[in-house]
Amino acid sequence: MTKYQDFLKNITECPFCENRKKVIFESKESFLTYALWPYHAHHLLIVPKRHVESLSELTEEEKGDIDFMQEKALEILKKLGYANITHMVREGKDNKAINHVHFHTIPNIRIGDLDHYGQERMELTEEGIQKTIKDIQKFL
Ligand SMILES: [Zn+2]
Repeated sequence: MTKYQDFLKNITECPFCENRKKVIFESKESFLTYALWPYHAHHLLIVPKRHVESLSELTEEEKGDIDFMQEKALEILKKLGYANITHMVREGKDNKAINHVHFHTIPNIRIGDLDHYGQERMELTEEGIQKTIKDIQKFL
């Protein structure tokens, strides 16, 4: 059985640009497809047709189109009986397997009780809250 990491090593061309056979539904600027390596059944992906790496490179028209598609995916998953749905987009070279930005719509995953390091998640202290706000506000 192929492992996900092996699958990634064998990718030579962008699978979202090269393999349009996977398209379930499309709009003007984006398409809806399934995750080949899902976190859960009915894990869907919304992919802009134009190959861009980051959310920040999308045009306003593409973003509007993707919003429409996310709502569409949400509606479909609700009709399938799911009540808990997560929308997710990941950024950064180490955090993305495929460098064509895509938006996940995933039913029934739980973000969970463990943090990034596998430790039990801790509530932010007052100091942590203040530092977070200060760090973010520097760039607003
Ligand atoms: Zn691509």
